[in-house]
Parts: sequence; structure tokens; C-alpha cells
Amino acid sequence: MAAASSAAPAPESSPAAPAAGPQVVLVTGGTGLVGQGIRSFVEGAGAEGAPEGETWYYASSKDGDLRKAEDTRALFERVKPTHVIHLAAKVGGLFHNMAKKVDFYRENMLINDNVMGMCREFKVVKLVSCLSTCVFPDKTTYPIDETMIHDGPPHSSNEGYAYAKRMIDVMNRCYRDQHGCSFTSIIPTNIYGPDDNFSIQDGHVIPGLIHKCYIAKRDGTPFTIWGSGTPLRQFIHSHDLAALTVWTLRSYEEADPIILSVDEAAEVSIRDVALMVAEGMGFEGEVVFDSSKADGQFKKTASNAKLRSYLPDYKFKSMKEGLAETCKWFIENFETARK
Ligand code: NAP
Ligand code: GDP
Repeated sequence: MAAASSAAPAPESSPAAPAAGPQVVLVTGGTGLVGQGIRSFVEGAGAEGAPEGETWYYASSKDGDLRKAEDTRALFERVKPTHVIHLAAKVGGLFHNMAKKVDFYRENMLINDNVMGMCREFKVVKLVSCLSTCVFPDKTTYPIDETMIHDGPPHSSNEGYAYAKRMIDVMNRCYRDQHGCSFTSIIPTNIYGPDDNFSIQDGHVIPGLIHKCYIAKRDGTPFTIWGSGTPLRQFIHSHDLAALTVWTLRSYEEADPIILSVDEAAEVSIRDVALMVAEGMGFEGEVVFDSSKADGQFKKTASNAKLRSYLPDYKFKSMKEGLAETCKWFIENFETARK
């Protein structure tokens, strides 16, 4: 079980007073897959119901290296955020995580420590940070829920990343107990959509498969899927995640994390995802499974019951539709896409 908050001592400093004037929302990692999804939501459907005068700042690493305390302070001094959605992280797929465990741990610990520290110092009214379902224990019961984060070791393939992310959950409670901060976190499943990192070596499975399929179609070579294709995953489109993350910022008052996921019934095998990618890319050549490559965690089936208790009718984009759109986006943006 997640450490329950024991009878907490009185906060050392009083909770941040709501800032006078309009809200300024800083999105760290604002140029990535999720950050750009948030931008298109906020500038589209999300404009309805937005607080009067709310402004958004989408930070990239060019605005400051958040591994460095002085850069993080300079960003907060410049933007003066009242609210923060913290997405910036060293992010990668299974194979990148397996190769760079130390980097994933150290860089994410530095980034998270700097951002949380500045949110306290600048009396940010609310901080929403981003975990991932791959931080959950490998050996567990299913479906996984929000109370199970610390129940056992994560899968060894991504333990550097997972332990760094788990510490966000721990520190959210510590900041609340010592300083009265309103820090919370979201736990998305695997994400996909436009503006992803389509690197074959370093990226996640969907952008990697789309890029590999593009090359296979262009060069008339086989489309190779790594591993057995049997592992199961839940995928959320970045635009759904964006809408739910902004809802979390505006309406979710708990300090405890919330899983942002499609329903359990929407879980798919990597094989089925690969076949949907082939269809979305219009690929009709040979499909090959390279079982010499790792499968990673077999599944991490997450429950969205908590989310459904708040938003019972939220309708997620279907994978077929979302994948077809993402394939089209990659083809149209091939020259400039991150890869
Ligand atoms: P992404 O597309 O790789 O984007 C990462 C973002 O972080 C970029 O804006 C990048 O800036 C910024 N960044 C990285 N290192 C930085 C540093 N040292 N200083 C400042 N900014 C830095 O990642 P994403 O997929 O949107 O992920 C967003 C969040 O979701 C992350 O916290 C990730 O752990 C979590 N998550 C992702 C997935 C997934 O499947 N993608 C699943 C679960 C959870 P530049 O553009 O300048 O490089
Ligand atoms: P994970 O969900 O955290 O394990 O990360 P990924 O998004 O990297 O998905 C990994 C799963 O997809 C594993 O079962 C891999 O064997 C499988 N897979 C198949 N082809 C690829 C590929 O081209 N890239 C990646 N990253 N994974 C692939």
C-alpha cells in the first residue's frame, strides 16, 4: 500500500495563499508529446471553462536545463508560475531504459528535486507531476491501482526511471506534511500521438514501430517488431491525456495520485498494435518478430476506477482512429519530426 499519511504535524509554513491576479500555468517539458497535446487542448476545447486571464508557458530545455538548480530558479523567476504541470523528464522506451539506468535515475531525480523545490519557494498554488504505470511493482495482482505504487520492486528493465518517478509520490506527501504544499501526481499508461519522439533506438513502441514501418514501406524491406509481440499494454492518446491532465489541475483536489488510463478492456498486445500500425501506414509487406529482443514487463494492467468515479462518461479516442491519425501525422511531418 502507498504510505498512508500519518497524523501529519502542523505544516512548517502555511499553505500557499492563492496568488493575486490571473493564473500563470508553467508546463515543464512543454515541447514534448504530452506538453504539445496540452497546448492543443488548451488552445482548443480547453479554452472553455478556463479561469479569466489564465496564461500558459510551455517550457523546453532551451528555457533552462532543469537538472541545474540555477536554471530552474531562473525559469521560475522569469515565468512566475502560480500553477505548474511538471512533465519534463528523461523519457525513453524499454531499450533506452535498459541501456541507461543510471542516467534515467540521476537526471530525473535532479529535475524533480529542482522543480518541486522551486514550486515550494515560489508558493505555487498547485503542482501536478507526471508518473507512469511502469513505476508499479512487477510482481503484483491485477488490475493495479493507485495504492500499490510502493508494494514491491519495479520491473528491472526500467528500475532507474521507476525509482526516480516513485520518489515524486513520496515527496508530494513530504511537501504537504512539512510545508502544506498542494502537490499531486498523475499516472498515465503508455502514451502515443503527434509530436512524439520517433527515434527507433530510444523511443517508445508506437513511435518506434511507425518509424520502422515507414522505412520498411519506403525501402521494400520487412517490418520488424522487437520481442515476441505477446506483452500487453494500455495506450492513451496524448490529446485524451491532455484533457485529463488539465482537468486534474483545475478540478482534482486529492494529494494522492490518480491513474489516467483507458479502460482495462482496451488493453492490447504489441502484436495487435504492430498490425494496426501496418494498416495505418498502408504497409502490405512482410511482418517479422525478432524474439531475440527483450519483451520487458509482460503487462501492467491499470484500473481507471478512480478516474471513472470522477468522470464516468469520459470517452477515449479509439486506438484505431488515434493510430491512423498519428501515422498520417508522421508521414506529413517526416522531415521535422523528432527521430
Ligand atoms: P518527451 O516527448 O520526450 O518530452 C520531454 C520533454 O521534457 C521535452 O519538452 C524536453 O525538452 C523536456 N526535457 C527533457 N529533459 C529536460 C531538461 N533536462 N531540462 C528541461 N527540460 C527537459 O516526453 P513525453 O512523452 O511528453 O513525457 C511527458 C511526461 O510523461 C514525462 O514525465 C514522462 O515520464 C511521462 N510519461 C510518458 C509516457 C510515454 O509513453 N511517453 C508514459 C508515461 C509517462 P526539449 O524538447 O527541449 O528536449
Ligand atoms: P514499456 O511499455 O515501458 O515496456 O516501453 P515501450 O513503449 O518501449 O514498449 C516496449 C514493448 O514493445 C516491449 O514488449 C517490446 O518488446 C515491444 N516492442 C516491439 N517493437 C518495439 C520497438 O520498435 N521499440 C520499442 N521501444 N519497443 C518495441
